[in-house]
Amino acid sequence: MALFVHKYGGTSMGSTERIRNVAKRVAKWARAGHQVVVVPSAMSGETNRLLALAKDLAPARASAAFHREQDMLAATGEQASSALLAIALQAEGMEAVSYAGWQVPIRTDSSYTKARIESIDDKRVRADLDAGRVVIITGFQGIDDEGNITTLGRGGSDTSAVAVAAAMKADECLIYTDVDGVYTTDPRVVPQARRLKSVSFEEMLEMASLGSKVLQIRSVEFAGKYKVPMRVLSSFTPWDIDINEEAKSGTLITFEEDEQMEQAVVSGIAFNRDETKISVLGVPDKPGIAYQILGPVADANIEVDVIIQNISKDGRTDFSFTVNHNDHARTLELLREKVVPALGAQEVVGDTAICKVSIVGIGMRSHVGVAAKMFRVLSEEGINIQMISTSEIKTSVVIEDKYLELAVRALHKAFDLDQPAAA
Ligand code: ASP
Ligand code: MG
Repeated sequence: MALFVHKYGGTSMGSTERIRNVAKRVAKWARAGHQVVVVPSAMSGETNRLLALAKDLAPARASAAFHREQDMLAATGEQASSALLAIALQAEGMEAVSYAGWQVPIRTDSSYTKARIESIDDKRVRADLDAGRVVIITGFQGIDDEGNITTLGRGGSDTSAVAVAAAMKADECLIYTDVDGVYTTDPRVVPQARRLKSVSFEEMLEMASLGSKVLQIRSVEFAGKYKVPMRVLSSFTPWDIDINEEAKSGTLITFEEDEQMEQAVVSGIAFNRDETKISVLGVPDKPGIAYQILGPVADANIEVDVIIQNISKDGRTDFSFTVNHNDHARTLELLREKVVPALGAQEVVGDTAICKVSIVGIGMRSHVGVAAKMFRVLSEEGINIQMISTSEIKTSVVIEDKYLELAVRALHKAFDLDQPAAA
């Protein structure tokens, strides 16, 4: 007997028919003698629908009080899908019980709309499992110290699932989704993209943070911190496929690098269309400017990604960085109101027509010239690089967004990631 956490995404939970299928699949695992905890997302489209209603009624400048209500509202999506899944399991003849985050409880901090899980009490869940029940826990949500409902950020059910798996020391956390694993890049952009049988945790972490939408990044961080074995697999295979076959399908996130020895230098190409560029122009070049610009941005809880500072001319320099699309207007406003006057900079300009493309691979540690090859490929396509950022296992470039597809396809090919053509 093993303990598995199954997570089902919104598409997999998208209709009562699909929920029935999930129930049949879960029942198969439970009947094979395993303990199963299921963490579902809201039915597809539901979170968007709820958030749109809130936005419709909200004042232009959203307050913390608004964010509290937003979480209160958005959390209902998962409560509904969890109860529906429990009902479907009961209809399959299984004993099943669902819990909202606060009933477990899953404790988080109080940062509404992007709360972090602090602890999970597994007593109640453990007792149900020992009594032979399937337990369903709402994804995406928790409760803070004051008893307010919080949510973990879009896509947060992945993180709920891995956190539950970590807390319960599950044997594996299976992330069922509408794709059959992690690909070398998004197959919608590159049809020749290949599924990876396994990917190292570090690569997955980079890919998630660089814009691969398969997993929420916090879920990968959690998996790394608590060494939770995690697998991404399809929920669209027939529910009654052989359980042993299913258990080996998809993409396994591994912690052992030796398994990767044979792998290509670059394992994947990630991209992010959600980034935007902010440039502070004509900043007096003196110690402390990065702090004076980015300090207030950090204080406003805005995440900054790629940063560059140009060489100075006549004692002044330009300072650019990228932020998420959602934070673009707020960042511009903040800098114009507070930072520019205080610093004596000339102006702040924003550019939303950019994107970030990255190559990722632990093989980059032991091979030189990988970044140079990336730059060569892009230059051969006539693509101008605006910003560069590197780490041990990735190189990212910021380019004009109209070149995204071209760049990703060219890099995918140049780094030998295209699927072998059918004979
Ligand atoms: N329902 C939430 C969302 O749409 C959480 C999730 O699906 O993971 O973002
Ligand atoms: Mg998701």
